[in-house]
Formats: sequence, C-alpha cells, structure tokens
Amino acid sequence: MTQFDAIVVGAGPAGSTTARELAASGARVLLVDRASFPRYKACGGGIPLRTERLLPFPIDSVIEDSVHRLEVTYGGRMAFTRDSGEPFAHMVMRERFDALLLERAGQAGAEFRSLTTVRRLERNGAVTVTAGDGFSASAPFLICADGAHSPVGRMAGLGADIPECAAWEVEVRAGPKVRDYAGTSLIDLGYKPWGYAWVFPKAEVLSIGIVLPPGSAGDMKRSVAAFTKRLGLKDAPVDIARGHKVRLRRKDERIADDRVLLAGDAAGLADEFTEEGIFYAIQSGRIAARNVLRAAAGDGDLSGYQRDINREVMPELRAARVIAYMFYGMLRRAPRPWMFASAHTGFLWNAFFAVQRGESTYAREVARIPVLPGIARRMMDGR
Ligand SMILES: Cc1cc2nc3c(=O)[nH]c(=O)nc-3n(C[C@H](O)[C@H](O)[C@H](O)COP(=O)(O)OP(=O)(O)OC[C@H]3O[C@@H](n4cnc5c(N)ncnc54)[C@H](O)[C@@H]3O)c2cc1C
Repeated sequence: MTQFDAIVVGAGPAGSTTARELAASGARVLLVDRASFPRYKACGGGIPLRTERLLPFPIDSVIEDSVHRLEVTYGGRMAFTRDSGEPFAHMVMRERFDALLLERAGQAGAEFRSLTTVRRLERNGAVTVTAGDGFSASAPFLICADGAHSPVGRMAGLGADIPECAAWEVEVRAGPKVRDYAGTSLIDLGYKPWGYAWVFPKAEVLSIGIVLPPGSAGDMKRSVAAFTKRLGLKDAPVDIARGHKVRLRRKDERIADDRVLLAGDAAGLADEFTEEGIFYAIQSGRIAARNVLRAAAGDGDLSGYQRDINREVMPELRAARVIAYMFYGMLRRAPRPWMFASAHTGFLWNAFFAVQRGESTYAREVARIPVLPGIARRMMDGR
C-alpha cells in the first residue's frame, strides 16, 4: 500500500485546490476521484470575479462569456435590468473549469488517480482509504472534498447533520438565441417559499436552472420546463439535464476531527442568497491545505480547521443568509412593491455587484445596515 502525506478525495474545485496548495508546499499528495476527467457537474458555472481572484493562475482559457448585466423578473413579469458597467462574473462550463484546476494540481506535483471510488475508510493511527477496485492508500491526513453528498465524509462521521437544498440544471442549445444573452444573466424570482431560476450564457449553450428548498425539490423539473417554455425555448435541444444537492452549513456542525476534514460542498459551504459554492470551495481548500501543513509540522491534529472556517468563512455565509431572509421574505410578503423598490434603488444591486467583484463582502454590506439582522429574523418564517 502506498503512503502519502495527505489524501484528497474529490477533484472538484475544493479538492484540486487543496491538492495543488499541498503539493506546491512539497507534500506528497494523492488526489482521487470516482470520475474520469473532464467530467460534467450540475452547475450554472457562474464564477464571480472574487472567485477568480482566489486562484493564482489565469482562467481565461475556459471563460465562455463575462456578464455585466443582470436582468431580473418575477414569474416572467415586472422585468428590470441593472448594468454594472463592467463584468461582475465569468461563465464557464464546469468540465473545462474543473479540468483546468486539476491540471494545475498535477503541475504542482499532486498525483491523480481517476475512476477511483472510495468505498472504505479505516483509522489505524493514520487513515487508509480503499476504492471499489481494491486500490488502497494511506496517509496521516484525509481531506474529504467529495461534494454535497459527501459519502466519504459520512464514513468519517462528519457533516451528516448539515441542512441542504436542491438545484436542477439543463444545458440548452438555443441557437442564435444564445447571442441575445451575451453579457447578461437572467434571474427569475417568485418561487415559493424562496428560490430562483436562472439563465447563464455560455459560448454555445444557455445554462438554465433553478434552486429551491428541499421540500420543493419535486417541482424543479416542472418549473424549469415552464421557465424554458416561457423563454421561447421549449423545442430547443437539451444537451444535459441534471440535479444535485447544495449543502448549507448554518451552525457549528462538525467538519473536522484530528485526522479528517471536509472542504467545499462536503462541509456545506455555499451561500444562501445566490446558492453559489465555488468561491467557498476554493477558499476552504486553501484553509484545508494550510491546516494540514500546520498539523504535519506540529501536533498532527486537524481540528483547528473548524475554528478557521468558523472565523474566516462562516461570517460571510451568515451575512448571506441574513440578506436571503430579508430579500425572499420581502418578496413573499409584498412582491410588487419589492420588485418596484429593487428596480428603482441602486443600493441593493450595486452592493451585489461589489460583492461579486470582490470589492465588498456580504458581511460588510450587512454591517452597513445594523437593523438588517433584526428585519431578517422577522422574515424567517417559511424558509
Ligand atoms: C444546479 C447547480 C448549480 C450551481 N451553480 C453554481 C454557480 O453558478 N456558481 C457557483 O459558485 N456555485 C454553483 N453551484 C454550487 C457548486 O456547484 C458547488 O458549490 C461546487 O461544485 C463545490 O465544489 P466541491 O469541490 O466542493 O465539490 P464538487 O464539485 O461536487 O466535487 C466533488 C467531487 O467528488 C467526487 N466524489 C464524490 N464521491 C466520491 C467517492 N466516494 N470517491 C471518489 N470521488 C468522489 C465527485 O466525482 C466530484 O468530482 C451550483 C450547484 C448546483 C447543484
């Protein structure tokens, strides 16, 4: 059995980032994934500029479009558009984006094994993982970056109690209509009790999808079909249609012990306003690598990772949650006045663009309006 300094399960943004940072620091890292890359991941592929900024290499080669306009509708009506004047997010196809991150991990020296589904985990002083094909490897530290279902995290007894919601994505060959959305993302509101549908433009396809709370997950396909029809794309060929969970860490759920930690979706690090998670996957991957290196050099204990996530990531997720409660709560109670106010006050969307570009944070924006957490708490029922 081969020995490593660390094993990373899952080669999405969280796992590839952890592996790259560890390998770049000289650690012997094994990165495994059950898939063969490039692989599809159900995702809108929206990469805010703040996410790009976390990466120490350019992602231009995988950018399909960059958006500066946000069109907002409520059930297809009450439309308004805000233009941020310059791009606030890039659009990527996840198979190409994730393959780039994985390539960079390999260049840094991480060893990658594809088609390796971890089925067993043993703790024997170190941590030993065994895959379905009998392959087995051992290391003092294990990083579970195995996505929102996190089967390996569950084997380690971590993260099982993190709440979740669901999202569904279809990639539509919209022909010349793809060009109508160049530079623009469309958000459709009005789903109960909360949620939104989106259109994100790519070079050849439109990513169309919806995110809804777990109780409404059964409505996702029907809602996306109705939305697609309303956009005049009912008969457009669909390349792929798939759903996936999104996990939302809200409290101090356990995401690390002495030798194992969860990163990215496995740890529930997605924000409740936009439901985006790639930023936090990369951020937590970096924090994970730092903690593994610290533990390897010191007392061999990873539990400081949870403290670091609570300090560096959770304030932002909590602030996004406050904004989400306020935003969706207002929308539920007074849709027409709230859409009117949203269309005619610059503050909300300017703040959103600033956060997307990395010029501000949700936490800073919430702190600017001290009464917001109180208002949000009153809006919380139904979410
Ligand atoms: C429909 C939808 C739309 C979304 N849109 C956006 C968006 O536009 N922007 C954004 O920022 N976020 C978006 N998100 C969230 C985003 O997709 C996730 O936050 C992000 O993929 C998390 O990255 P990760 O590395 O933690 O996990 P993942 O990208 O899910 O990677 C986990 C990896 O683990 C592997 N794996 C799982 N189990 C095993 C096992 N037993 N053995 C080996 N390997 C295993 C999987 O094959 C996978 O490659 C969306 C989510 C959904 C569901």
